[in-house]
Amino acid sequence: MTNAANPPVALVPNQGWDPRLLICRHDLAYAGYTLPMHVFIVVTERYVVLVDTLINASTAEALIDIARPHLAGRQLLVANTHADSDHAWGNQYFDGPHSPAPAPIIGTRRCAARLRSAAEQAALAELKAEQPAEYAGVRLVPPSILFDDVLVIDGGDLTLEFFATPGHTPDHCSIRLPEISLLLAGDAAEQPLPFVGDGGLRDLRASLKRLAALEPRAAFYCHAPVDAGPDLIRANLAYFDRLEARCRVALASGAPAQPATDADLEALIDFPFAAAIPPGVQVERGFYRPGHHAAIRAMLARLGGAA
Ligand SMILES: [Zn+2]
Repeated sequence: MTNAANPPVALVPNQGWDPRLLICRHDLAYAGYTLPMHVFIVVTERYVVLVDTLINASTAEALIDIARPHLAGRQLLVANTHADSDHAWGNQYFDGPHSPAPAPIIGTRRCAARLRSAAEQAALAELKAEQPAEYAGVRLVPPSILFDDVLVIDGGDLTLEFFATPGHTPDHCSIRLPEISLLLAGDAAEQPLPFVGDGGLRDLRASLKRLAALEPRAAFYCHAPVDAGPDLIRANLAYFDRLEARCRVALASGAPAQPATDADLEALIDFPFAAAIPPGVQVERGFYRPGHHAAIRAMLARLGGAA
């Protein structure tokens, strides 16, 4: 059992959404920042589906502690939206018949490939060195039930439709529950702005458009307040539209498609970080500002013909 006095994961009080969706909060310590993070438990007639496993076996165990009252008479299924450390590094807790909570783990084929990759092993080694308290015991476990584009789980009363939404990372998927018009968007949208993976700008904007076109009544994200709602998808799309417009003006005025440094990126396209984030939103500037810079670079490169 996890430390009940200081659990690493807490159930967020239901604020009016369908009670079959449990939202769990973890304060993620990463690179010197504390970032609020949500992961999800969907309780259907047949299955309890954990959407993301957080960072290690302890956080996975804390999720199971929250799910436990719902497991009687239901099969446990686990899913990963993508392979990033905050989403899939608790997988080992569910791996194999001798694990504490054996369960099939669902994810994209690309998610599995990432968790088997040398790059992800290097990321793990780095985090083990930087944050041993969180990562020393982590063993990377890829999902065991794989799909490329779409996977559907018939839970009886609720259907979970998994579909690829690349861009934040190439392996990313989101989940729609059509009976209640609910969307779990993972990191495909984020407040104040989504992180564009390497070469992922075009895919991310296409994924956001696809999510917006679904017109969900309710939408939840791993890194946004629970009341952000479907408007956040439109806000993220609007951010990229503004970014594109400013980059086009800058390029027409002679700005380089591949600026030498990040120091003047915001001035170069006249799009300060403060103008990029929604008014009144409190964010870890030091964490999200590099995300704005990465998006500027990606847009300049694409429009300028360098990518
Ligand atoms: Zn994340």
